[in-house]
Amino acid sequence: MISRFCCQNLLVGLSLLAFLSPSVSAAASAQTASSPNEGKLSVHWEELTASDFREGIRRSQGTCLLPFGILEKHGPHLPLGTDLLDVRYAALHAAEQEYAVVFPEYYFGQIAEARHEPGTMAYSRSLQLALLQETTDEMGRNGCAKILIVNGHGGNESLLPYFAQTQLDKPHDYVVYVFDERTPEHGGPAKKTKIDMHAGESETSKMMVSHPELVHPDRASAESGADQARQKIPEDVYTGIWWYTRFPFHYSGEGAAATKELGEYQMNWWINSLVKAIRAVKADDVSPKLQKEFYEKSTHPLDTQP
Ligand SMILES: [Zn+2]
Repeated sequence: MISRFCCQNLLVGLSLLAFLSPSVSAAASAQTASSPNEGKLSVHWEELTASDFREGIRRSQGTCLLPFGILEKHGPHLPLGTDLLDVRYAALHAAEQEYAVVFPEYYFGQIAEARHEPGTMAYSRSLQLALLQETTDEMGRNGCAKILIVNGHGGNESLLPYFAQTQLDKPHDYVVYVFDERTPEHGGPAKKTKIDMHAGESETSKMMVSHPELVHPDRASAESGADQARQKIPEDVYTGIWWYTRFPFHYSGEGAAATKELGEYQMNWWINSLVKAIRAVKADDVSPKLQKEFYEKSTHPLDTQP
């Protein structure tokens, strides 16, 4: 990508050109006058016209959401796109309350552990990182100075912080933030089940709110989501196969215990938490400034003061 130094110089150059040339200035103001202004704007990137997109970036203060889902089995009773459908529901509702531009469907994450189940799309690790980098680079090039990745899939919880950490490798003129909360720890209707990690009580309840027509409660007990506890190693020793040793049917919990009331509580909590996160990201003027300072210092580490 073009470095921010290059872009800043380019911007300065363009402003000077506009100042010196009346025809360029006139063209610029004509463009401003014809752009849509105070009307309601869609939060969907793909629904905006090019000039509405410019207004969306202005209105969002350069804050864009990248809701991140996956395609994987969700027990015997929920659709493959559960995480994608739910994270988009939460992100779109949050952006309606606190305006942000929301990137289209994105589901190119880490899901190697479900490759034995039908319908799973498991991209290679190099493509996961490369595609995400090119996506955020392109979002940044289009004015998304702050990119909030909203994670909808538990299997991404190592990938996304790693991706954010590696943004320090080289200069980027945008900041990557990750929001990775989906379910409140407390509050709301009492839960009936203890194991509830995948397609169980919470996830099924949320789908009853976002896409009730895609939930098949009558099939929820057709397979077992019990913890099979087959691996006998200490908890502080990690292996990639851990999930399969415990939940070989890619189902953890009991979808049959789900209720719409629990779903409404959890989905509202998710949306409200995300609204707060968008507001905090918009207000954050520290990260962009210090990230820029860090990139500059990292080009001459021997000059760093102790
Ligand atoms: Zn899920």
